[in-house]
Amino acid sequence: MSAAAGFDRVALVGIGLINGSLARDMKRQGMAGEIVAASRRRETLDTALGLGLCDRATTDPAEAVRGADLVVIGTPVRAAGEVARAIAPGLSPEAVVTDVGSVKGAVVEAVLPELSHPGRFVAGHPVAGTEHSGPAAAIEHLFRHRWTILTPTEASDEDAIATVRGLWETVGSRVEVMTPEHHDQVLAMTSHLPHLIAFSIVGTVDDLEGHLRQEVFKFAAGGFTDFTRIAASDPTMWRDVFLSNKDAVLEGLGRFTEDLIALQRQIRWDDGDALFDLFTKTRAIRRGIVEAGQAYGRRAVIDDEPAVKDQTAP
Ligand code: NAP
Repeated sequence: MSAAAGFDRVALVGIGLINGSLARDMKRQGMAGEIVAASRRRETLDTALGLGLCDRATTDPAEAVRGADLVVIGTPVRAAGEVARAIAPGLSPEAVVTDVGSVKGAVVEAVLPELSHPGRFVAGHPVAGTEHSGPAAAIEHLFRHRWTILTPTEASDEDAIATVRGLWETVGSRVEVMTPEHHDQVLAMTSHLPHLIAFSIVGTVDDLEGHLRQEVFKFAAGGFTDFTRIAASDPTMWRDVFLSNKDAVLEGLGRFTEDLIALQRQIRWDDGDALFDLFTKTRAIRRGIVEAGQAYGRRAVIDDEPAVKDQTAP
């Protein structure tokens, strides 16, 4: 565990669910002398100011980062390059820059060329979240007991990596370092593919003919309700995730489709043994995940502290 992080001025470029939740934790723990937020819309900034997520707010990204020792980009991933270009003129050479995007390869590729001091950039992804968005959705302790993955490049300065690690550890995260490519492969399977399945199945039900569709929604329970919660996630964010992590998502989708067709065949041919074996294996996997403290459901309790409930963990 590195030393607790403290900053004179933090700039949060994009102030929605993730940066807003980070702001809440930083405020509570007195981690920043001043927090400056930047966003496109004045309305977003007014909400953030009203909720006390920041001390100052501006629609000018370069102005927001001026004099900051830490900058956190918290916009949809396909905006990261444009945001980096916008903040570059205001960045001090020592400022550490990080981000919270759910895809890492495309973000690193887009951001690095825009920065005069690429060694100060350490990409990151807190694997924590909910289906809500905007600053009003920000909550305390969102990152507690959750993983944050850092994907520094060979150019990243050691002290910048330590600073970003310290930031996340101070708000209660466990930190792991990997390459951007590896991150994107892992997250394609653990997060992106499950979200795609949820978007797809809710769309399938919505396409059912009138009365059947109504009945399904009326009696929605268990599995389907969970799918609808995940499928309520932010459309912009998820459009960007799938388009930015195309290769890994398509690879995972190919494997999943093959397995789904095998299941289809087992049901058609009354192969109960094969179904039973699969369900036995998946039940054991779930138990293993719960024991490892990575379950986000209602019963997720780690040590004596409850984790934030109903996370979608993108
Ligand atoms: P959010 O609540 O929707 O907030 C997004 C912020 O980015 C807002 O301040 C918004 O500004 C700004 N923004 C949107 N489009 C922009 C653009 N084209 N250019 C510049 N700014 C733009 O988003 P979030 O859920 O916090 O997600 C932020 C990042 O965290 C994403 O990269 C996402 O992949 C990642 N992430 C999300 C979750 C999750 O559960 N949601 C979890 C982990 C990581 P305005 O409101 O002013 O338009």
